[in-house]
Amino acid sequence: MTFDAKPCFSDTYAQSRQKFLSAATPHGDIHSFLHPEKGPDGGDLYLDMAVIGDAEANAGLVLISGTHGPEGFCGAGCQIALLESGLIDEFSDLRVVLIHAHNPYGFAWLRRTDHENIDLNRNYYDFSKTFTPHPGYDILRPHIVPRELDMDRISAGMAEYEAEHGKVGLLAAMVTGQSHDADGLFYRGSAPTWSQKIVTENLPGLLEAQDEVSVIDFHTGLGPFGVPYIVHGYAPGTEAFKAFRRAYGDDVKSTEDPADIDENMPATPEGPIVLAFDKILPGKSSYAVVIEYGTYPPDRVFPVLMKDNWLHAYGDLDSVVGREIKAEIKEIFYPASDKWKDMIWDESVKAMRCSAKLVRDKVLGDV
Ligand SMILES: [Zn+2]
Repeated sequence: MTFDAKPCFSDTYAQSRQKFLSAATPHGDIHSFLHPEKGPDGGDLYLDMAVIGDAEANAGLVLISGTHGPEGFCGAGCQIALLESGLIDEFSDLRVVLIHAHNPYGFAWLRRTDHENIDLNRNYYDFSKTFTPHPGYDILRPHIVPRELDMDRISAGMAEYEAEHGKVGLLAAMVTGQSHDADGLFYRGSAPTWSQKIVTENLPGLLEAQDEVSVIDFHTGLGPFGVPYIVHGYAPGTEAFKAFRRAYGDDVKSTEDPADIDENMPATPEGPIVLAFDKILPGKSSYAVVIEYGTYPPDRVFPVLMKDNWLHAYGDLDSVVGREIKAEIKEIFYPASDKWKDMIWDESVKAMRCSAKLVRDKVLGDV
């Protein structure tokens, strides 16, 4: 596709929302949900859902941006380009729901987590279940959630843990998610957060007639620059696992396949939205996938997450250090690179077509 998608990407949450609303309005209905907090510019924050296509369509396609705040620059750019390029017309047989700024607070404030420091992609958890935290988290905690920002000490603490447990062990201890350290990293919270409630209460009503629903949750920050890492949560041998293989090819990963556990996916995360669709859309067949678009290596990404966590817990956002950390956060999740934006758009077109094909094939029953 020769469409130039770069102008569809934005510099701020507010700009992205404006572009999204103006691109989506001619195509469908917009449902806007006001967040309790304000943005850094004092402006209102919204989770917006654009609903496009026939309410009676056989199948649905849901595209989510901004689950992890500033990763929304990528996903929103793809949503806006989908509309502006006319690619949306290819999906006119589907009911399409675009969720812009799943975590609007984090998008606006350049924060991976929400206004309660909750990692929204660990929050779609069944809170009636007892959660056993990874034992490594508390060992690492003094290093990864430090009172003083001393990067040499942070690196030394992580290196010590890695020497004993390996790289995969180190990453698993951090990213699995935890419920006991509200100022810490990868905090899932102890109850459904604002964004989860909005999605869970409102999405089903927009997809009433669709029995088969494909979902893509767009993320960034994992894998080689501009390259997609595609992962779902269906176990090998299941129909959904096979359907993903058929639609996406053999490169797609599963959190339920031990063979796919490595430095990219060091542990099965508990509480991502893509694993919650049986609960969000009960009675439907859903096929949800996360796509991570690579930016920089983990050795660059993780220290910035720790700095940002320190900044919100102990630092001053309105300081030279605070502004530097925010600039780094933006860069690790949204590289200032035209080439990256072009790569993302090309790859997202492929992914949207694959997820659309997956549900079409299911509806046609030819698989
Ligand atoms: Zn993410």
